[in-house]
Parts: sequence; structure tokens; C-alpha cells
Amino acid sequence: MKRVLVTGGAGFIGSHLCKQLVEQGHDVLCVDNLFTGNKKNIQALFDCYNFEFVRHDVTFPLYVEVDEIYNLACPASPVYYQHDPVQTLKTSVHGAINMLGLAKRVGAKILQASTSEVYGDPHVHPQPESYWGRVNPIGIRSCYDEGKRAAETLFADYRRQHNIDTRIIRIFNTYGPNMHPNDGRVVSNFIVQALANEDITIYGDGKQTRSFQYIDDLLAGMVAMMDNEDDFHGPVNIGNNTEFSMRELADEVLSLIPESKSKLVFKALPFDDPKQRKPDISLAKEKLDWEPTIPLRKGLEKTIEYFKSFNN
Ligand code: NAD
Ligand code: UDP
Ligand code: UDP
Repeated sequence: MKRVLVTGGAGFIGSHLCKQLVEQGHDVLCVDNLFTGNKKNIQALFDCYNFEFVRHDVTFPLYVEVDEIYNLACPASPVYYQHDPVQTLKTSVHGAINMLGLAKRVGAKILQASTSEVYGDPHVHPQPESYWGRVNPIGIRSCYDEGKRAAETLFADYRRQHNIDTRIIRIFNTYGPNMHPNDGRVVSNFIVQALANEDITIYGDGKQTRSFQYIDDLLAGMVAMMDNEDDFHGPVNIGNNTEFSMRELADEVLSLIPESKSKLVFKALPFDDPKQRKPDISLAKEKLDWEPTIPLRKGLEKTIEYFKSFNN
């Protein structure tokens, strides 16, 4: 049994991770300021003897004793990370410094939830880890992208300078139950709109692409990275390498909700919106023996079921 700290544990990904770790018998400490997270996501865990929740902002120091840290705290949806960009940057940078300082003091292993956004609007396709990316340093997405890039730098430097056992995963667009219905990300938006018979909002011409990973595949990759005992610290891409345009995603969602009366409408494309994104996952296959197993259609079915029950 390990003592595991999950920052951002009340959010979409963190709540699934907390549940899995609690079920495995680990002693789980979930730390979250509830900016985009919700206690409902972890409600079922409150009765478990091996689960604790602390409302805390990771931009402030945290003194606890743990063996492993999953650093997930950071709003992930453009709508929310652009709401208070300075706080977003502080969360990535000060949050990383505090969690790395904690890892250094107690000798814990620490994993950073980085992102495909470090590749920006890429000129290399698909994106391997060796690609340094094409990120606008002063745009409206920069607070997130550059914050995550700076956090990667801090992880690399704490490793080189202080010999901390760090791991970095670069997560590509992930979806599933526990996403907030008003989260603003494309999968939740399209499903919620289709279920409510509202217009499906496609930004731009809908030809931009993303590669969508179901939450269970991400969890398997994330835990495999934390648990790997080789001298491998990443960064490693964790994502599904099947690419869809937003137009195709909308059609797929509507085909799974045939009763929906929703129509497609086209809205302005947000500034700096990346045109295409798809992970090269050969490194994860080679080093972690990991690859995604859940196709979009199957993952969407499970997510639609979740949002149907959420509406009731
Ligand atoms: P989410 O918004 O649902 O979860 C983030 C959690 O962090 C929330 O519970 C929020 O309240 C908490 N948080 C934010 N700022 C905090 C702070 N200063 N102190 C403490 N807690 C704070 O998003 P998610 O999709 O679950 O993302 C989790 C992590 O994975 C994030 O770091 C995100 O950047 C990364 N990620 C997610 C995706 C994706 O597609 N979902 C892709 C790439 C990377
Ligand atoms: N820190 C923390 N918890 C700990 C240890 C450190 O939150 O258990 C924070 C502390 O606030 C510090 C930061 O982590 O500012 C970085 O710690 P480090 O030891 O690297 O730097 P220093 O304390 O020398 O500034
Ligand atoms: N998008 C869209 N309609 C929506 C929400 C998003 O067409 O209602 C587009 C968005 O412009 C982007 C893609 O879907 O091109 C993925 O957006 P999301 O915010 O989910 O993720 P990210 O842009 O961070 O990859």
C-alpha cells in the first residue's frame, strides 16, 4: 500500500484516478481547490477509510507525507483556463515548484500531467516527443501551453539538479464520464447539445482535427508510467492515434443519438486554435507496452450514457 497524493483529484481525470487507486487499496489524498473540479465526482469515495479530500490551492505550499504524487491540478478547458490566465500560469508553475519541493523533501516519485498543447499548432504530424512544438508565447492559449512547458522544464531541472524521480506524460484530448457538462470542451459540448436538441456548435469549418482518447486508456498509460521501474522518465505521449475532424465528431455523436433534432451550426474559430493534432505513440508502446484499446464510438457510447443520467 502506497500513500498517493493526487492534485486536481476532484476534476475529470483526477476523480477516475482517485477511484482506481482507492480500489487498489492505496491511501489516497486528493487535493483540489474546486475551481473546475466538483466534490460530486469523488462523492462515492468519501466513505472509504483510505480516501481523504483537502481543499487547497497548489500555488501555496503543502506539507504532507506521501510516497507518490500525481500532479494534475490545472484547468484543462480553454474556456476555464482563459478565465483567469494569470492564475492558470501560477497553477502550472508555482504548483509544480511546490509539488517538486514536496517530492524533494519526502523523497516521493512525482508524475506531471503535461499536454499535447506543448506542441502548439504543430508543423510536424503526427507529433513525436522529440518535436519541440510551435507555441505562441503571448497568445490567449499561452497561459496554459507555456505554463505546461515551464512545468516540464522544472521537472527536468529538479531531476538533473536534485535527483528527484520525476515522470512526464503528455496527454492528448481525453474524454469520458465526470466531464462537467459546461466544461466547454468539444466532446462534452456536442453530447450535451445533442441530448438537449440544441444546435451543435462547430468552431470554424470543422476541418480541424483532434485524436480523442477514452479516460480508461489514459488511466492505464498514466499508471504504467508511474509504475515503470526502468530508467525512463519521459516525456511520453499518451493518446489515441486515430484522428477525426470536428465535423466527423459531430456526425458520430449525432449517429449515436438518432432521436436528436440538433442541427450543425458554424461559429467563429477561436484564436490560435491548433489545426491538427495526433500523437506518435511509438515511444509509449516501446517503453510502457501501452496502447489505446477503446475506439471513439465505444467511448462516446459510455460518455453519452453518463450525460443522460446526469441530466435526469
Ligand atoms: P479538470 O478541469 O476537470 O481538472 C482539473 C482539476 O484541477 C480540477 O478539479 C480543478 O478544480 C483543479 N485545480 C485547478 N487549479 C488548481 C489549483 N491551483 N490548486 C488545486 N487544484 C486546482 O481537467 P482534467 O481534464 O481532469 O485535466 C487534469 C489534468 O490533465 C490537467 O493538468 C490538464 O492540463 C491535463 N490534461 C488533460 C487533458 C484532457 O484532454 N482532459 C489533456 C491534456 C492534459
Ligand atoms: N514545499 C512544499 N512542501 C514541502 C516542501 C516544499 O510545498 O514539503 C514548497 C516550498 O514552499 C518551496 C517549494 O516547495 O518554496 C520549492 O521547494 P525547494 O526545496 O525546491 O526550494 P526552497 O525551499 O529552497 O525554496
Ligand atoms: N470546438 C468546437 N465546438 C465546441 C468546442 C470546441 O468545434 O463546441 C473545437 C475547438 O475549436 C477545437 C476542437 O473543437 O478545434 C477541440 O476543442 P477542445 O476545447 O475540446 O480541446 P483543445 O482545443 O484544447 O484541443
